Amino acid sequence: MPELPEVEVSKRIIKPYIFGYTILYTRVYNINLRWPISNELIHIKNQIVIDVIRRAKYILLELTNGFIIIHLGMSGKLEVLHKNIDPGKHDHIDFVMNNNIIIRYNDSRKFGSLIWSHKYNLPKNILNLGIEPLSNDLNYNWFCNNIRNKNSLIKPLLMSTKWIVGIGNIYANEILFASKIMPTRIIKTLDDDEVKILIYNIKKILLYSINLGGSTISNFSCNQFTGMFSTKLQVYGRYNSKCNECTNTIKVIRMNNRSTFFCDICQK
Ligand SMILES: [Zn+2]
Repeated sequence: MPELPEVEVSKRIIKPYIFGYTILYTRVYNINLRWPISNELIHIKNQIVIDVIRRAKYILLELTNGFIIIHLGMSGKLEVLHKNIDPGKHDHIDFVMNNNIIIRYNDSRKFGSLIWSHKYNLPKNILNLGIEPLSNDLNYNWFCNNIRNKNSLIKPLLMSTKWIVGIGNIYANEILFASKIMPTRIIKTLDDDEVKILIYNIKKILLYSINLGGSTISNFSCNQFTGMFSTKLQVYGRYNSKCNECTNTIKVIRMNNRSTFFCDICQK
């Protein structure tokens, strides 16, 4: 499933081809994605793309009178085509641009979505999102003011979009290992140094993955740009393997129904 780094990589790949250019029209091959593709999207004509933004795991294309909000779901991909190619079975929508580029949405499992939103009426699931982990909003003071004293377990909180967006299961596991913090720790037991190192690693690991092109878990790729982060995983998916730091065996438990990997020597 694409997580924040993969979505950011997708945004960076398409942005140079659409930012400031005009969507001449769309070609919709299949309206039945997670939600049906709306008439506004089907009938778009000559709309300039004013901005291309990532918010959590959404890509927002800002047009003059609204947004196209894209979620890649489990297997969605945005492809940049330099010439028209006949659509395949899993190609669902084309954006035909005025620079001879076609942006094609491909999604084999069809859990992704492309929805239209008027400018001042963004959906609640966008408006109610927590802060962006790579922005300056996530810092020591914010952490102390908002979540430091909570009785919650650290890993589910890191994954909750109510507070910080875009840290999915893979990255939550890796961030906690790098920070030497057990996923089962209660947040208010973290000391000052642990809070600082946790914030540092959230940013470092997400950026590292973006720079490597995301992770390839669950067939992520965008224009054959395949993520390398999966080869760098320290704990995720490594049950019973040796810890790279101490040679202890990596353990796994279920937390909130998600596989949670850790080293119980390195992590406290
Ligand atoms: Zn270890």
